[in-house]
Amino acid sequence: MSDCIFCKIVDGKIPAQKVYEDEDILAFNDINPARPVHVLLIPKKHITSLATATAGDTPVLGKMLAKANEIASAQGSADGFRVIINTGRVGQQEVPHLHIHIVGGPDPVGPMLKRL
Ligand code: 5GP
Ligand code: ZN
Repeated sequence: MSDCIFCKIVDGKIPAQKVYEDEDILAFNDINPARPVHVLLIPKKHITSLATATAGDTPVLGKMLAKANEIASAQGSADGFRVIINTGRVGQQEVPHLHIHIVGGPDPVGPMLKRL
């Protein structure tokens, strides 16, 4: 999608600190990291969100989850990490290109959600 920030990163039109790449997926550091390790892992193909993913997207989604541990370990979170996939309005997704946040570092990342 031509007006999508993350598609522009895939196409090299916007710079990013890439930490992993293959033919299907790309991982790069979040521009505004919330933890010492904060990587965004995306499919190179534009998928807007988990709410619009289809059965045909299953292989790439599985590949992303299967790669998360390797990426987290290589970036300095070898003793576990958290993945977050914000989805749509209720999930407060800001960038409408499906992405997995991989967050971690040397210390525990904190409680899963603040209670309302
Ligand atoms: P969301 O709220 O959609 O789950 O997360 C979007 C994330 O993308 C945020 O953590 C934000 O810091 C990150 N982000 C937004 N624009 C850019 C960008 O141009 N480059 C990089 N590396 N990260 C971005
Ligand atoms: Zn996109």
